Amino acid sequence: MIDVQALSKKFGDNLVLSDITTSIQQGEVVAIIGPSGSGKSTFLRCLNLLETPSSGSIEVNGKNLTASKKDIHKIRQQIGMVFQHFHLFPHMTVQDNLMYAPMKAKGIKKHEAEEKARQLLERVGLGQKAKAYPNSLSGGQKQRVAIARALAMEPELMLFDEPTSALDPEMVKEVLEVMKDLAKSGMTMVVVTHEMGFAREVADRVLFLDHGVLVEEGEPESFFQQPKSDRARDFLDKVL
Ligand code: ADP
Ligand code: MG
Repeated sequence: MIDVQALSKKFGDNLVLSDITTSIQQGEVVAIIGPSGSGKSTFLRCLNLLETPSSGSIEVNGKNLTASKKDIHKIRQQIGMVFQHFHLFPHMTVQDNLMYAPMKAKGIKKHEAEEKARQLLERVGLGQKAKAYPNSLSGGQKQRVAIARALAMEPELMLFDEPTSALDPEMVKEVLEVMKDLAKSGMTMVVVTHEMGFAREVADRVLFLDHGVLVEEGEPESFFQQPKSDRARDFLDKVL
């Protein structure tokens, strides 16, 4: 589904991603881990062109993101993104947050968007919060709304950038549960996370980045038990 070839990204003279080549299959759950500043967010942002690669190519479903500017809008619509800090529209109810993009960008009729919003809110356990405003929700609830909002566009791929890092510890689990359900439903997911338990349990594959280099990738079991590189071993020693 995603094919990344020799992707590099520079900010000025700072080489933040260096020659990354990997691919992601449909239905796969990929966890990206690595130290702070290693380029995890930049990599994720390149996948939906929130950042423009300096060189290399990214194909999504056979379409070259870096070449076909005219398709970008369409390709982006197929990619949902969830951030650390939710980014909900504060002046809209939860339900309106979910209805806005489908109506605006896809021309979905209001009653259909509303029906879809209600289904999705049920799915993330927030059926009663449709008319609430984001400010009245807990962090965990806000993040579940953000996930539902991304799903309202019916994406083929979901990107998560540290979705639980801004949450109080007691709220981490409810968000991870929603993500786990999503993974089980067959969604293709790329998740930057510090939740090693989640990576180990839910991911099909782990990518380990350090200083912008894809140092190692593999199945969670082998990666966590027997990392091949010293850098991954050092990192795991610190976080586990
Ligand atoms: P991570 O998500 O792994 O913590 P990031 O991808 O956020 O790492 O950042 C990788 C490096 O790129 C860091 O050195 C960071 O300072 C730099 N960086 C990220 N975004 C920008 C930007 N918009 N402009 C300049 N430098 C940036
Ligand atoms: Mg980051």
